[in-house]
Amino acid sequence: MGTVVDAAPSLVSDKETNASLSHDKKVTVVFVLGGPGSGKGTQCANIVKHFGYTHLSAGDLLRAEIKSGSENGTMIQNMIKEGKIVPSEVTVKLLQRAMDESGNDKFLIDGFPRNEENRAAFEKVTGIVPEFILFFDCSEEEMEKRLLSRNQGRDDDNIETIRKRFKVFVESSLPVIEYYNSKGKVRKIDAGRPVDEVFEAVKCVLSPASEKVANVF
Ligand code: ADP
Ligand code: AMP
Repeated sequence: MGTVVDAAPSLVSDKETNASLSHDKKVTVVFVLGGPGSGKGTQCANIVKHFGYTHLSAGDLLRAEIKSGSENGTMIQNMIKEGKIVPSEVTVKLLQRAMDESGNDKFLIDGFPRNEENRAAFEKVTGIVPEFILFFDCSEEEMEKRLLSRNQGRDDDNIETIRKRFKVFVESSLPVIEYYNSKGKVRKIDAGRPVDEVFEAVKCVLSPASEKVANVF
């Protein structure tokens, strides 16, 4: 893991850092990215159990916002149905509130940032630069199969919306992953394998160096 520095948001530069939330809490953030159905939520649940992170899914926070009857609810609902990226003002605020309310200082932020504007807004508002990015790399064919059998009653798990979401991922989200890759921050995982095998690869990324050495012997 990289270092955690205590810095006011305005002073944070784009180094391997983290920063503070409104209560000056030092936090560690890992962004979990990958196409729809690549297994982000599934693996985050495993990571929470083993590594003590708090999992914040941008999609789940947006769906909760719709259910809460918020004034933005209808707009969010329509955008999700179309597979579109909800404006950063909404998502960044939801993420920041969830982090502030959490007693934890380690977060897995799943499904965010989804475009360059998300990325810049998050860093500007929170002053947080992610520790690294877990990127679940999976073929569209496999993701489509998984989404069509997810059975969670989601409005957007139909073939028409799925195709739109794939397009948005390639056009808007992959460039964010490429940006972080250029900073050496991307940890790419082959997510097309069975859940347990994917988690073994995830553990290798998240385990402290000392544990990795111990596992060799
Ligand atoms: P995401 O959060 O990236 O959209 P999910 O974790 O919700 O993806 O996974 C989508 C669907 O695929 C779920 O029904 C999940 O149970 C299933 N799934 C997740 N990972 C795998 C895997 N490695 N192999 C097969 N199915 C998987
Ligand atoms: P997910 O649960 O990650 O599959 O997201 C479902 C949908 O929620 C996406 O297709 C978007 O419409 C919306 N959404 C999720 N995350 C974000 C985000 N970071 N920014 C904007 N919209 C998002």
